[in-house]
Amino acid sequence: MHAHDQTPAVPDVGNGHDATTTERGSFAVARCVCGWAGPARRSRDRARLDAAGHMAAPPGGRGA
Ligand SMILES: [Zn+2]
Repeated sequence: MHAHDQTPAVPDVGNGHDATTTERGSFAVARCVCGWAGPARRSRDRARLDAAGHMAAPPGGRGA
C-alpha cells in the first residue's frame, strides 16, 4: 500500500484566482492576481462580494 498522506499547504482556490479587496480612498476595489479588477465600491463588503463572485465564476473562462 502507498502512503499518500501529503496534503499541500496551499488550498486550491479556483483556477489560480486569488481576489482580494483594496481600498482606494473612500472606495474599495476587488482585485485578482489574474489581472481582473472589479468596480469601485463604496463599501468593502460590496467589493468582497465582487471578489467572491469572480473567484466563483471568473469572466473570460473556457468558452461555453
Ligand atoms: Zn481572477
